[in-house]
Amino acid sequence: MLTIMTDDKKKDIPIASQVGADDPHLKPDQTAQAHVNPGMAGGGFAAPVTGADRVYEAIYQAVLEHRLSPGERLREEELAQQFNVSRTLVRQALQRLAQDQVIELLHNRGARVPVPSMEDATTVFEARRVVECEVAKRLAGRLTESQLQELLHLAESEAEADRLGHRAQAIRLSGEFHQALARMHGNPVFTRWLTGLLPTTSLLMARFKLEGGQVCVAHRHIDLVFALQKSASVAGAEMRKHLHELEQSLTTVPLPRRQLRDVFQAYRDDTTEL
Ligand SMILES: [Zn+2]
Repeated sequence: MLTIMTDDKKKDIPIASQVGADDPHLKPDQTAQAHVNPGMAGGGFAAPVTGADRVYEAIYQAVLEHRLSPGERLREEELAQQFNVSRTLVRQALQRLAQDQVIELLHNRGARVPVPSMEDATTVFEARRVVECEVAKRLAGRLTESQLQELLHLAESEAEADRLGHRAQAIRLSGEFHQALARMHGNPVFTRWLTGLLPTTSLLMARFKLEGGQVCVAHRHIDLVFALQKSASVAGAEMRKHLHELEQSLTTVPLPRRQLRDVFQAYRDDTTEL
């Protein structure tokens, strides 16, 4: 149970139950999936069913969770072996990832994870402020109890993952928190924009964040949930403060790269070409 303030009253909310079940913007079959695949283009759509979907989802998550570093090369043949799919399916996945700006295709030289610059940081955070502060303002005072439960559950799970040292999980949950807000607002264009902005944010954190810490700070997300129960100006200001803190945390400390075969180990066992 967490205690949250609602209109000057304390309110106890069970955190782990019925998450997202009453979200008016989700169809019933999307409710659970939205938490599993937040990174799939557009956020919150059907489960991956093809080999190309699996490759897409694995690479998107690997970028988001800092398991793929900026500049990392993605070779079709190696990926095809890793996922036990054809190079054609790998190529399809890479093309979609490039369209969503998760990776970049190099002329006749395959694909690689982008290497965002500090100039990119300026434009990405400017765009996030425009979208996410507006989302926060519009959601202020209008979230249902189940939506508040879902947000608190994500923030608490993120804090717990962070406490246990499960960094990739904490980063994933952090992204889910921001995507959940966009989804609750209900404008699919906002959700798609954020889906495109999160991988670049994650790569910026991987490249420039001191000590290679997680993308967000869980307690800030809990603060945001409190602010979202107040006025539009309070909610918008809290989101602006949060994004400002993230941007200010960037410095110039590169992280070591990892081997591709280790990055996708978790995906190998259940990878089947369809
Ligand atoms: Zn955050």
